[in-house]
Formats: sequence, C-alpha cells, structure tokens
Amino acid sequence: MSDRLSRALAELPPDIVRTAAADLAPHLTDWRGQKTGAADALLLPRNTADVVAIVRWAARHGVAIVPQGGNTGLVGGSVPEPAMSRPTILLSLRRMNAIEAVDPAGLSLRAGAGAILADVHAAAERAGCRFPLSLGAKGSATLGGLVSTNAGGVQVLRHGTMRALVRGLEAVLPDGSVLDQLSALAKDNTGYDLKQMLVGAEGTLGIVTRVVLRLAPAQGWRSIAWVGLGSPDAALALLQRLRRGAGESIESFELISAAAHDLVLQHLPGARPPLTTSHPWHALIELEADSSILEALLAEALAAGEIADAALAASGAQGDAFWALREAIPEAEKREGGAVKNDISVAVADIGTFHARAEEMLAAEFPGSRPFVFGHLGDGNLHWNIRAPLGADPAWLKSDGEAARRRLHDLIAEFGGSISAEHGIGTLKRAELGRLGNPARLSAMRAIKAALDPADLMNPGKLIP
Ligand SMILES: Cc1cc2nc3c(=O)[nH]c(=O)nc-3n(C[C@H](O)[C@H](O)[C@H](O)COP(=O)(O)OP(=O)(O)OC[C@H]3O[C@@H](n4cnc5c(N)ncnc54)[C@H](O)[C@@H]3O)c2cc1C
Repeated sequence: MSDRLSRALAELPPDIVRTAAADLAPHLTDWRGQKTGAADALLLPRNTADVVAIVRWAARHGVAIVPQGGNTGLVGGSVPEPAMSRPTILLSLRRMNAIEAVDPAGLSLRAGAGAILADVHAAAERAGCRFPLSLGAKGSATLGGLVSTNAGGVQVLRHGTMRALVRGLEAVLPDGSVLDQLSALAKDNTGYDLKQMLVGAEGTLGIVTRVVLRLAPAQGWRSIAWVGLGSPDAALALLQRLRRGAGESIESFELISAAAHDLVLQHLPGARPPLTTSHPWHALIELEADSSILEALLAEALAAGEIADAALAASGAQGDAFWALREAIPEAEKREGGAVKNDISVAVADIGTFHARAEEMLAAEFPGSRPFVFGHLGDGNLHWNIRAPLGADPAWLKSDGEAARRRLHDLIAEFGGSISAEHGIGTLKRAELGRLGNPARLSAMRAIKAALDPADLMNPGKLIP
C-alpha cells in the first residue's frame, strides 16, 4: 500500500479499517475458488453514516470500492480484480446485519444490507410470515448481494425474483448522497424508480445499505414430491398438468438431470436417493396445497405416461431431505471441479427443444464433454453446465470450455433467451454481454453508469462491457 493511501485511511474511524493480510484473505477469493483479487484494505462500516463517510472519502482520494456481502456470487463480481490499476478497498456490509422491524400486518420486513438470508427467514417465521425467496447459499448470502444480483432461487415461479420482493431500499450513491426509498408505498408515480435500478446493478451504481422486503403469509399447506421422468418435455407436461390442477399453489418446480442427481448422492454424506428406480431426469415439486391434491395429480400423470415414478414426502423432515439434495448440487459440483458454469433462460415452452439442440451442438463440436444440467424449469432457467471430457487437461476449461460456452450463448441468442438468468454478469460474462447484448440497452447502461459514477469508482470492471 502506498504511503498516500495509508495516510488517507487514517482519516477513517480505526474501528472500521482492516489492513492485515489475514483479515483480507477470506474476502479476496470467490465462492467458486476460481478468482482471487487484490485490495489495499477491508472496510467494515457499522451503519449508513459510515458508508457515506467511506464513499465520500473514496471519491476524494480516487479509491475504487468493491462491495461485498456473503461472497457467494458465482460470476466474480464480489471480489476485486487481481491487478489493481488504482487503490482499491473491499467494503463488507456484514456488520450491517440488523433485522430492524417485522410487520406481520403489512407483510414487510426491514433489515440492514448485511442481514443473512437464513436469519431473514427465521425472523419472518417468528412473526408468523415467510420471506419467499430461498437458495442453496441461504446461510451466507446477504440482502445487499441478493438485491444487487436480483437473485432468483427456487420460488420465483410463484413469488418472483428479488425485483418483485423489494418494497423499499436505501442506498449510498457514488457522490455520497443517500437515496432514501425505504418507505414501502404501494403507489408512487413521481418519476424513475431508482430503487429498481439498484436491483441487479451488481454494486456498480452505489452501495445498498438497508432494504424493506415484501413478506408472504406463513404457508398453510406444504406438499413435496420427488419425481422420476424421461425428458425435459415430460417435465413440462407435468408442470402444465399441475398448473391446471393446482393453479397458483405451485411454489417450486425444479428439474434435475441424472448426472446432477448422482453426483449429489456421491458427495453428500448420508444422502439417500428419493426413488429406488433410476431415471434420466428428476423433478422436485412443492405445492402450497394438501398432499392429497399433489398425490392425485401425480397419479394422473403416471397413468398418462408423463412420469415414471414419484415419492411424496411423508413428513416435513422428508420434504426437507429432498430439498437438501437439490440445494447440495452446486457444492457437489464444486467439489468435483472441472465444469464451465452457465446460467441461461429461454421461454419455458422451448426448454426441451433448446436442451436437445444444445446436446447436439456439444456432441458435434466438443466431443467427450458432458452436459451437467439442473435448474428452475418453471422459470425457463437452467444451469446448463458443461463438464470437461474425462481425463482432459485442466486447461480444457479455459480453451475448449470457454469456446463451448460461447457456442451455447450463440444458441441462446437464436432462441431469444438470456445468458444470465439469475447469477448476473460480474466479470465472468462481461465480454459475452458485450458480444451479444442489445446495443441500445448497452449504451443506455453505459450512459447511466457515467452519469452516476463518472470516476468509475463503484465496482469497476464488473457488469458493464
Ligand atoms: C450454493 C449456491 C447456490 C446458489 N443458488 C442461487 C440461486 O438459486 N439463485 C440465484 O439467483 N443465485 C444463487 N446463487 C448465487 C448467490 O448466492 C447470489 O448471487 C446472492 O445474491 C449473492 O449474495 P451475497 O451476499 O453472497 O453477495 P456477494 O457475492 O457478496 O456479491 C454479489 C454482487 O453484489 C454486490 N454487492 C454485494 N452487497 C452489496 C451491497 N450492499 N451494495 C451493492 N452491491 C453489493 C457485489 O459487489 C457483487 O457484485 C447461489 C450461490 C451458491 C454458492
């Protein structure tokens, strides 16, 4: 660190500044373990006033800010770049984790941006409500990160992404001013909805400091089933059957390939397969309905030949065990290593055709590579990951693996889909956004970034190509 920066850091309250390598190290590598960056200091604000002071200080001294929550992001957005072209600080919001208020009558919860998702779930439940967004990283992911990546998860089908669940928000903008849109008004037509611009901005437009969330009433019923079936199209037929029979009560509809199912069983200690038979595809379904409804619909699907087998969870604990299998897929994949991770979406009706075309493309152009697919079928969102051929050199991922990703994205463009359905762009997909993004949209994004953050201090090098 330069003497100049060291002197500048002395202007901040000592309690919020860490410069020891041991304090910084856990924050510098991303969850995938694939990117390690460098920073001069870690700053740990206690409240919004500290964030204002830090942002103004950074602007005065030309210091770049990389905001970080739980560091569970999957696109390299939450860690700094390896080569620092200017002084850089990591801003961890973890201390700002207070659950400030829960309003069961108004179905809302206000919390600091550092609040961990699992703690938000628990607080909502204690008040007889629930926060209907969940994902495998719930024990670490924070509200600030979830807002900034517009996270999805396993209940988007019914409740929407973070965008639909943020009722109010407070953020510190790059000039140090505080955008106060915390009041959760149902109606407010006074111009641009700036809080929505912060949702999915990946820390490039400011620091989210506090959030008001929309809650849902506690679940009255919970029925969960694990289903074995033959193809993504069969899963789609089942989803349509459930929609006809159970309507809005479908909470989740997850699709899991045999490869993902088998890998989890291999890596999750004590895990047992929900079905005794093996299948090319599996679906995990949750309804907010009496289990007799789900049972009857699955019996119809079995009789119609849409599905091959099904296990209805006999208890909440068994349902949780089914979910534990689903949620362990990313961790199992990480332990196995050797995959190019993709996070794509197409129109729900196109899922089967897209999958078949992608498989054909991979077999023809990248022989031996293996698709590893799971995701949120009800949202048209698949983690269409590509594993290296058995025995391939680790360098395959950077060469052929990246080429395969680009070809997959070409196919996505042909289907009018998205190259990032929920994880965001970060640094991992920035070049691809530049290659395939709509030019008008990209130039508007660049103009907004330049207007709000002319010195490019907020998470530089991320998102915007
Ligand atoms: C096992 C596992 C399962 C996952 N499943 C899903 C899933 O189903 N759906 C899904 O959408 N994602 C999923 N993710 C991705 C990840 O959990 C989400 O992206 C989550 O929103 C990140 O939250 P975080 O607090 O860890 O953010 P971080 O990783 O710390 O940061 C993510 C981005 O937000 C920015 N940021 C963080 N806090 C702030 C703030 N206060 N103000 C401004 N910018 C900020 C960072 O700079 C970075 O660009 C999964 C990840 C893992 C590891």
